Amino acid sequence: MDTILAENMKKLREEHSLTQETLAEALEVSPIDIYMWEAGRAYPDKRKIIKIAEFFEISVDTLLESKADDTPEIPASDHLPLNCKMCGGELIHNYLAGTCKCANCGKKRAISELYPGFAKYTPVIAAIAKANEILNGKTLLASADEANLLYKQAINECNKFNDMVSLELLKICNEGLVKVKQFEIYCRGKHFFDNKSFKSAMNELEKIRGYRDADEMIERCKVKLESSHKGDIPWAVVFSLIIPGTIAISLAAFAGWPIWVCILIFLAGSAGLGYIIYRGGVPSIIIKVISFLCLAATPLILILILAYLLHFHI
Ligand SMILES: [Zn+2]
Repeated sequence: MDTILAENMKKLREEHSLTQETLAEALEVSPIDIYMWEAGRAYPDKRKIIKIAEFFEISVDTLLESKADDTPEIPASDHLPLNCKMCGGELIHNYLAGTCKCANCGKKRAISELYPGFAKYTPVIAAIAKANEILNGKTLLASADEANLLYKQAINECNKFNDMVSLELLKICNEGLVKVKQFEIYCRGKHFFDNKSFKSAMNELEKIRGYRDADEMIERCKVKLESSHKGDIPWAVVFSLIIPGTIAISLAAFAGWPIWVCILIFLAGSAGLGYIIYRGGVPSIIIKVISFLCLAATPLILILILAYLLHFHI
């Protein structure tokens, strides 16, 4: 995304023998901002553009103008007005609504009335408006693709023009692309949530805290996970009783270990396993599989207990 502004800024900075850092300091921005502007990967806002022009002692028009003669000279009257004609106050532009309002006297007017050239942005604005509408609608991944495409079309269209409106619209489009990313993550999170994959839903939604009802869904996931965690407790108990029990009884029955040692081994093993399973969050599926195997081994354990009690040696 190369813009005339990006080229001009780099040229001006080099002509003045400034580094990105010194220019950043003079404009009270970060060097990253300068880097991004010069690379055409981000766009300064209106106030910054004015500041840059003032710093290099040129007009805003010159800053945004192509140095080559291949673009026709824009008549002076056909530039976006930045100040109110009545009182000189700063104009706040709402490009999507096509209006501007004086920050000082509050007078509101259509941008096209003050700047006839604004009409060429009608398709761009329509695309952005449509994309915004999509992102506020149904949460479908296909919608994200559609919005993404619309913003990119708008960006391509904007890149054909070199004025402050195109820069401002490019900024809106880039913010839109960020919103598409959030929307995509939200769609995935919601999909997982609806399919009861609460852990996966949380992983996605955590990335976009504050977006729509993401925070609320995260809380609901936590509650669901907590209750399923509680559902695992019986399994954890079974698991942490049977394994150490089997070991302790085997040691007593076959190896002839003293009974008090076996009881200690059983207690320590049981407490240790119970703690690990309950606190360590061993995936419940593993617990269930192993517990199932242990339950299947119950008849064997019962035989061992009987063998021990009756002092038989199998
Ligand atoms: Zn005014």
